[in-house]
Amino acid sequence: MPDFQSILEIIQQDAINALDKGSVATYIPELAHIDINNFGIHLRTSDGNDYGIGDYNKPFSIQSISKVLALAKAMALIGEDTWKRIDVEPSGHPFNQLALLEIENGIPRNPFINSGAIVIADILVSNLKNPKKDFLNYVRDLTGDDNINFNIDVAHSEKITGFKNFAAANLLKSFKNLNNPVEEVLDFYFHQCAIEMTCEQLTKAFFFLANKGTCMLNKTRLSKPQAKRINALMLTCGFYDEAGEFAFEVGLPGKSGVGGGIVALLPDNYIITTWAPGLNKKGNSKLGMLALEEFTSKTKLSVF
Ligand code: GLU
Repeated sequence: MPDFQSILEIIQQDAINALDKGSVATYIPELAHIDINNFGIHLRTSDGNDYGIGDYNKPFSIQSISKVLALAKAMALIGEDTWKRIDVEPSGHPFNQLALLEIENGIPRNPFINSGAIVIADILVSNLKNPKKDFLNYVRDLTGDDNINFNIDVAHSEKITGFKNFAAANLLKSFKNLNNPVEEVLDFYFHQCAIEMTCEQLTKAFFFLANKGTCMLNKTRLSKPQAKRINALMLTCGFYDEAGEFAFEVGLPGKSGVGGGIVALLPDNYIITTWAPGLNKKGNSKLGMLALEEFTSKTKLSVF
């Protein structure tokens, strides 16, 4: 068994010394004032040991990491019908690119690019009684922690600047791949992205994906094949047009968000969450990717 705590300490030191920390997302104005020097990692092994370093207990905006939990909820609600409206291929393009959606007749490439996540949001709006409240409760329940909330200022900030997301939703609507009103679906989507969680909470929330669909509280949230599918999608599509690079360097299923978080996991082994708000040019956390590369190299624990 590797000495996880010492490995995390070395990784933290390397992050502190890094000359280039990337840059904080500014296209959502409310995210622009986050201190770039935040850095945290939380690791939980499947046998129940926890390790944390740095700012692993500070809440941050989970942004696109929420797309994985939204997909899990949609699959639990409508199962295979999910795939009638969304494909499962990497896009090879930025998360908010629209051209492919037009060429491919309103069927998003995968559930983790924005257009795909907006279709998932539409599914949840159709199938949940109180969509925002029910989804938040789902995340709280997965985590076993009621102390998780939306940051309303972030949701609002994204709403007033989310022109490309409005364009994507309207395009989906024109192809009849959006059943609810654009405003309603996006209001849900902006809130799901504006959930704030710590590294430790995210690690707990994602436990079910490393544990064949059964969550921390020992409840079955997805079937084993469904958990397998989500992990496959995280590996191939979790990092937008840098998914290949993440698989190449890190070798784990994972998902990033423009708040600077990354959750990655090795089924039946561990879940790890990093937070470093500076992003690289592809919108993924610069130091988070480096940290995970260092982690799987030092521990030799990856899927490959
Ligand atoms: N809420 C963000 C957006 O729709 C999510 C992007 C991300 O985290 O990659 O632009």
